[in-house]
Amino acid sequence: MSSEVTKASPNFNDLGLAEPILRAISDAGYTTPTPIQTQAIPQVLTGGDLLAGAQTGTGKTAGFTLPILHILSQKPADPSSKGRPRCLMLTPTRELAAQIEESVKTYGKYLPLSSTVIFGGVNANPQIARLKKPLDILVATPGRLLDHANQKNVDLSGVEILVLDEADRMLDMGFFDDIAKVA
Ligand code: AMP
Repeated sequence: MSSEVTKASPNFNDLGLAEPILRAISDAGYTTPTPIQTQAIPQVLTGGDLLAGAQTGTGKTAGFTLPILHILSQKPADPSSKGRPRCLMLTPTRELAAQIEESVKTYGKYLPLSSTVIFGGVNANPQIARLKKPLDILVATPGRLLDHANQKNVDLSGVEILVLDEADRMLDMGFFDDIAKVA
Protein backbone atom coordinates (compact mmCIF):
# COMPACT_ATOMS: atom_id res chain seq x y z
CA MET A 1 0.00 0.00 0.00
CA SER A 2 1.38 3.39 -0.85
CA SER A 3 0.57 6.55 0.96
CA GLU A 4 0.80 9.88 -0.73
CA VAL A 5 0.72 13.27 0.86
CA THR A 6 -0.79 15.78 -1.51
CA LYS A 7 -0.37 19.42 -0.74
CA ALA A 8 -2.51 21.90 -2.63
CA SER A 9 -0.33 24.39 -4.43
CA PRO A 10 -0.80 27.88 -3.01
CA ASN A 11 -3.02 30.27 -4.89
CA PHE A 12 -3.17 34.07 -4.75
CA ASN A 13 -6.96 33.85 -4.34
CA ASP A 14 -6.53 32.03 -1.02
CA LEU A 15 -4.32 34.65 0.61
CA GLY A 16 -7.04 37.13 1.54
CA LEU A 17 -6.11 39.95 -0.85
CA ALA A 18 -8.74 42.34 -2.20
CA GLU A 19 -10.05 41.84 -5.74
CA PRO A 20 -8.39 44.95 -7.31
CA ILE A 21 -5.02 43.63 -6.10
CA LEU A 22 -5.71 40.14 -7.48
CA ARG A 23 -6.57 41.75 -10.82
CA ALA A 24 -3.26 43.63 -10.88
CA ILE A 25 -1.39 40.43 -9.99
CA SER A 26 -3.12 38.67 -12.85
CA ASP A 27 -2.22 41.53 -15.22
CA ALA A 28 1.42 41.15 -14.12
CA GLY A 29 1.21 37.54 -15.30
CA TYR A 30 1.80 35.91 -11.91
CA THR A 31 -0.10 32.70 -11.44
CA THR A 32 1.34 31.30 -8.21
CA PRO A 33 2.68 33.06 -5.11
CA THR A 34 6.33 32.38 -4.35
CA PRO A 35 7.22 30.72 -1.01
CA ILE A 36 8.10 34.04 0.68
CA GLN A 37 4.78 35.49 -0.54
CA THR A 38 2.78 32.48 0.70
CA GLN A 39 4.36 32.87 4.13
CA ALA A 40 4.55 36.65 4.44
CA ILE A 41 1.24 37.85 2.96
CA PRO A 42 -1.16 36.25 5.51
CA GLN A 43 1.10 37.31 8.34
CA VAL A 44 1.31 40.96 7.25
CA LEU A 45 -2.47 40.96 6.73
CA THR A 46 -2.96 40.11 10.42
CA GLY A 47 -1.25 43.41 11.21
CA GLY A 48 1.62 41.92 13.18
CA ASP A 49 5.32 42.70 12.84
CA LEU A 50 7.30 40.56 10.43
CA LEU A 51 11.02 39.94 10.06
CA ALA A 52 11.75 38.01 6.86
CA GLY A 53 14.96 37.00 5.11
CA ALA A 54 14.83 36.40 1.36
CA GLN A 55 17.18 36.95 -1.54
CA THR A 56 16.49 39.31 -4.42
CA GLY A 57 14.58 37.39 -7.09
CA THR A 58 12.37 35.50 -4.65
CA GLY A 59 9.45 37.90 -4.99
CA LYS A 60 10.00 39.55 -1.62
CA THR A 61 8.99 43.01 -2.82
CA ALA A 62 5.49 41.78 -3.70
CA GLY A 63 5.57 39.79 -0.45
CA PHE A 64 5.40 42.97 1.58
CA THR A 65 3.83 45.35 -0.97
CA LEU A 66 0.69 43.31 -1.73
CA PRO A 67 -0.57 42.95 1.86
CA ILE A 68 0.31 46.56 2.67
CA LEU A 69 -1.73 47.75 -0.31
CA HIS A 70 -4.59 45.60 0.96
CA ILE A 71 -4.43 47.05 4.48
CA LEU A 72 -4.23 50.65 3.23
CA SER A 73 -7.06 50.12 0.75
CA GLN A 74 -9.38 49.01 3.56
CA LYS A 75 -9.08 52.42 5.16
CA PRO A 76 -9.11 55.28 2.65
CA ALA A 77 -6.74 58.14 3.32
CA ASP A 78 -7.86 61.53 4.46
CA PRO A 79 -7.59 63.43 1.14
CA SER A 80 -6.46 66.53 3.00
CA SER A 81 -3.41 64.84 4.54
CA LYS A 82 -0.72 66.18 2.26
CA GLY A 83 2.89 65.16 2.79
CA ARG A 84 1.77 62.80 5.55
CA PRO A 85 2.20 59.20 4.34
CA ARG A 86 0.56 56.25 6.10
CA CYS A 87 3.24 53.83 4.97
CA LEU A 88 6.99 54.40 4.78
CA MET A 89 9.27 51.99 2.94
CA LEU A 90 12.98 52.59 3.54
CA THR A 91 15.60 50.98 1.34
CA PRO A 92 19.35 51.56 0.94
CA THR A 93 19.76 52.64 -2.69
CA ARG A 94 17.98 54.80 -5.22
CA GLU A 95 17.73 51.86 -7.64
CA LEU A 96 15.92 49.74 -5.06
CA ALA A 97 13.72 52.66 -4.06
CA ALA A 98 12.68 53.24 -7.68
CA GLN A 99 12.00 49.52 -8.19
CA ILE A 100 9.88 49.25 -5.06
CA GLU A 101 7.79 52.27 -5.97
CA GLU A 102 7.32 50.82 -9.45
CA SER A 103 5.97 47.65 -7.80
CA VAL A 104 3.66 49.72 -5.59
CA LYS A 105 2.26 51.41 -8.71
CA THR A 106 1.97 48.13 -10.62
CA TYR A 107 0.18 46.18 -7.88
CA GLY A 108 -1.84 49.18 -6.73
CA LYS A 109 -2.99 50.35 -10.14
CA TYR A 110 -6.67 49.56 -9.46
CA LEU A 111 -6.63 51.15 -5.99
CA PRO A 112 -7.20 54.81 -5.12
CA LEU A 113 -3.84 55.03 -3.35
CA SER A 114 -1.00 57.43 -4.12
CA SER A 115 2.73 56.89 -3.81
CA THR A 116 6.01 58.57 -4.54
CA VAL A 117 9.72 57.90 -4.23
CA ILE A 118 12.45 60.15 -2.86
CA PHE A 119 16.20 59.57 -2.90
CA GLY A 120 19.40 61.58 -2.80
CA GLY A 121 21.68 62.71 -5.59
CA VAL A 122 18.94 64.56 -7.45
CA ASN A 123 17.29 67.97 -7.17
CA ALA A 124 15.05 68.07 -4.10
CA ASN A 125 12.59 70.63 -5.48
CA PRO A 126 10.39 68.23 -7.51
CA GLN A 127 10.29 65.98 -4.44
CA ILE A 128 9.19 68.92 -2.28
CA ALA A 129 6.45 69.76 -4.80
CA ARG A 130 5.23 66.15 -4.78
CA LEU A 131 5.24 66.01 -0.99
CA LYS A 132 2.74 68.88 -0.94
CA LYS A 133 0.13 66.58 -2.50
CA PRO A 134 -1.81 63.73 -0.83
CA LEU A 135 0.35 60.69 -0.24
CA ASP A 136 -0.35 57.21 1.09
CA ILE A 137 2.93 55.40 0.47
CA LEU A 138 6.39 56.96 0.54
CA VAL A 139 9.39 54.95 -0.64
CA ALA A 140 12.70 56.56 0.32
CA THR A 141 16.37 56.23 1.03
CA PRO A 142 17.19 57.25 4.62
CA GLY A 143 19.49 60.26 4.11
CA ARG A 144 17.26 62.26 1.77
CA LEU A 145 14.18 61.34 3.77
CA LEU A 146 15.80 62.79 6.89
CA ASP A 147 16.67 65.99 5.01
CA HIS A 148 13.01 66.38 4.05
CA ALA A 149 11.83 65.54 7.56
CA ASN A 150 14.23 68.10 9.09
CA GLN A 151 12.97 70.74 6.67
CA LYS A 152 9.38 69.79 7.53
CA ASN A 153 8.65 68.89 3.91
CA VAL A 154 7.26 65.57 5.11
CA ASP A 155 5.34 64.69 8.25
CA LEU A 156 6.07 61.16 9.46
CA SER A 157 3.67 61.27 12.40
CA GLY A 158 0.97 59.50 10.35
CA VAL A 159 3.09 56.45 9.48
CA GLU A 160 1.23 53.29 10.51
CA ILE A 161 3.30 50.80 8.50
CA LEU A 162 7.10 50.87 8.32
CA VAL A 163 9.13 48.66 5.99
CA LEU A 164 12.91 48.40 6.35
CA ASP A 165 13.90 46.72 3.09
CA GLU A 166 17.40 45.24 3.08
CA ALA A 167 17.79 46.39 6.68
CA ASP A 168 21.13 44.57 6.98
CA ARG A 169 22.52 46.47 3.99
CA MET A 170 21.24 49.79 5.32
CA LEU A 171 23.12 49.12 8.55
CA ASP A 172 26.27 48.10 6.62
CA MET A 173 26.02 51.39 4.71
CA GLY A 174 26.02 53.36 7.94
CA PHE A 175 22.34 54.37 7.96
CA PHE A 176 21.79 53.27 11.56
CA ASP A 177 21.59 56.81 12.99
CA ASP A 178 19.32 58.01 10.18
CA ILE A 179 16.96 55.07 10.61
CA ALA A 180 16.91 55.49 14.38
CA LYS A 181 15.92 59.15 13.93
CA VAL A 182 13.18 58.27 11.44
CA ALA A 183 11.84 55.35 13.50
P1 AMP B 1 12.00 40.58 -6.06
O1 AMP B 1 12.56 39.37 -5.36
O2 AMP B 1 10.99 41.27 -5.23
O3 AMP B 1 13.09 41.48 -6.55
O4 AMP B 1 11.19 40.05 -7.35
C1 AMP B 1 11.86 39.40 -8.41
C2 AMP B 1 11.01 39.33 -9.68
O5 AMP B 1 9.99 38.36 -9.53
C3 AMP B 1 10.31 40.62 -10.04
O6 AMP B 1 10.65 40.89 -11.39
C4 AMP B 1 8.84 40.33 -9.93
O7 AMP B 1 8.13 40.98 -10.95
C5 AMP B 1 8.76 38.84 -10.06
N1 AMP B 1 7.70 38.19 -9.26
C6 AMP B 1 7.30 38.54 -8.01
N2 AMP B 1 6.33 37.72 -7.57
C7 AMP B 1 6.10 36.80 -8.56
C8 AMP B 1 5.21 35.69 -8.71
N3 AMP B 1 4.38 35.33 -7.74
N4 AMP B 1 5.27 35.00 -9.86
C9 AMP B 1 6.12 35.35 -10.85
N5 AMP B 1 6.98 36.38 -10.78
C10 AMP B 1 6.98 37.12 -9.65
